[in-house]
Amino acid sequence: TYTLGPKISAWDQQRKVWLSKNPEFPNFVNGKARILLVTGSPPNPCDNAIGDHYLLKAIKNKIDYCRLHGIEIVYNMAHLDKELAGYWAKLPLIRRLMLSHPELEWIWWMDSDAFFTDMVFEIPLYKYEKYNLVIHGYPDLLFEQKSWIALNTGSFLFRNCQWSLDLLDAWAPMGPKGPIREEAGRILTANLKGRPAFEADDQSALIYLLLSQKDQWMDKVFIENQYYLHGYWAGLVDRYEEMMEKYHPGLGDERWPFVTHFVGCKPCGSYGDYSVERCLRSMQRAFNFADNQVLKLYGFRHRGLLGPNIKRIRNETATPLEIVDQLDIRRSVHGKT
Ligand code: UDP
Ligand code: MN
Repeated sequence: TYTLGPKISAWDQQRKVWLSKNPEFPNFVNGKARILLVTGSPPNPCDNAIGDHYLLKAIKNKIDYCRLHGIEIVYNMAHLDKELAGYWAKLPLIRRLMLSHPELEWIWWMDSDAFFTDMVFEIPLYKYEKYNLVIHGYPDLLFEQKSWIALNTGSFLFRNCQWSLDLLDAWAPMGPKGPIREEAGRILTANLKGRPAFEADDQSALIYLLLSQKDQWMDKVFIENQYYLHGYWAGLVDRYEEMMEKYHPGLGDERWPFVTHFVGCKPCGSYGDYSVERCLRSMQRAFNFADNQVLKLYGFRHRGLLGPNIKRIRNETATPLEIVDQLDIRRSVHGKT
């Protein structure tokens, strides 16, 4: 059967030795685990030209978040393994990055169609000390309902360790394009509640794997729903004005969602579950909502959540350093309580 590559064993020991020999590449810097955010898009232009503009907005949004929080970022456009094209492309990529960067403690996959909408919130890594996979979802939807949307693979974190390599190996076999993926899709549709008939996707395959091998994996999987590591866009984008009126960034939950993910929108591809107009309008709103939090640092904001126009929110001053500290997002996370 299909494999992602040579079977790797004792990665934890190998990595430990490497880390001890390469102290200039520590996996913790100033007490913070080294995280790499990984995202990407297909190697070719979008079918719909406007889609490329939205990919640009989406990567700008991620660069801003990562810059403000000291997270490294990778944008991939290559299909490392032709068999695993499309949404499966993240698997060989994550594996490759783990092996090529032993200094990374966590690899954080984020879909191109997911936007950071809380630029202040930080992942509470202390909760995950004993875990190797952190993913948004609901245990009852997973174990009782066996729902195909119990977990979302648009934004999740993997620890760089042997367990993660093993999980990737167990996850990949439904991925190869063609008859294997088609047949696997039938198994997934037959077993997962609410799943339409289509080829195997990475999300359904992960859910199916965790359901069928619960004892083997679940003690190291943290199912997160205290904040929106992934937040479904349809329930969020129309509430941004209300959020701005009542709340403030840093909450990460339904009051101010950490991530807004445009599941079912395909502005780069040709088909989707929602109209392209609605998707693009909603993406603009998410982008501006987030970008306002960035522009605020520099004294500006968007005039509205739709459209590119901005306006000044502070007067220029001859003594800019007087307010630098109070504006800096990096301080607001750790400083004030
Ligand atoms: N993707 C990629 N290369 C591809 C196709 C997809 O890197 O050739 C990534 C991209 O970031 C995308 C994610 O995989 O957001 C998920 O795929 P898709 O958009 O098809 O699924 P959806 O996000 O709509 O569930
Ligand atoms: Mn997505």
